[in-house]
Amino acid sequence: MSKKIIITIDGWSSTGKSTLAKQLAKELGYVYIDSGAMYRAITLYFLRNHIDWTDVNEVNAALKDIVIEFQFNEKSQQSEIILNGENVEYVIRDLVVAEKVSDVATIKEIRSFAVAQQQKMGEKKGIVMDGRDIGTTVFPDAELKIFMTADSAVRVERRFKELYEKNPNITIEEVKNNLEMRDYIDSHREVSPLRKAEDAIELDNTHLTMEEQLGIALKFAKKLV
Ligand code: C5P
Repeated sequence: MSKKIIITIDGWSSTGKSTLAKQLAKELGYVYIDSGAMYRAITLYFLRNHIDWTDVNEVNAALKDIVIEFQFNEKSQQSEIILNGENVEYVIRDLVVAEKVSDVATIKEIRSFAVAQQQKMGEKKGIVMDGRDIGTTVFPDAELKIFMTADSAVRVERRFKELYEKNPNITIEEVKNNLEMRDYIDSHREVSPLRKAEDAIELDNTHLTMEEQLGIALKFAKKLV
């Protein structure tokens, strides 16, 4: 039987982390967890319930009421996030959530809440998790760490196309500003800022097709499993 490992995929916003993570998980028969979806779901809860995330007491009380699960959807063939029993996989992708999520993700208590659950999900290994601090904080001992980058114009274009399909009113400027803002906040925050783990492999996919990037990642993974 092959060995089960933990694969972490971190990097800048819209570098295709989740696409690669999903494909890798499928190829290896591993579980895929989108850690960004957890911060987005928490943000959605805070927005809906008017929680002031700068008030630690409000945050701690609110976190007690939040239950996050992932469920595999046979129809979409992907794992989807469930917030207190509601499937929020699609609403959390909205720009309203994207505009606030990086602020919410700076809060220490919120990160501890999410990280504890992420670490639990990795206890049995056989997992691919993508995010910003997975190789540095969540699984510092992961067997394979990938750090993804891509030219910013390419990233904006990719995210714009994705969001435009759902909302034709969105502008490229809005998408660009949001990506720049999130990358800035994510890499400058005090707790677990976005950075490449020393032992991570850097993968720049500006000029790579999805098949090519999967091929590179699989080659590394297959040496370890
Ligand atoms: O991965 P995604 O772009 O959906 O993540 C949304 C936001 O969640 C990021 O911009 C970041 O602020 C936060 N995040 C984080 N740590 C992670 C994953 C996401 O702070 N591990």
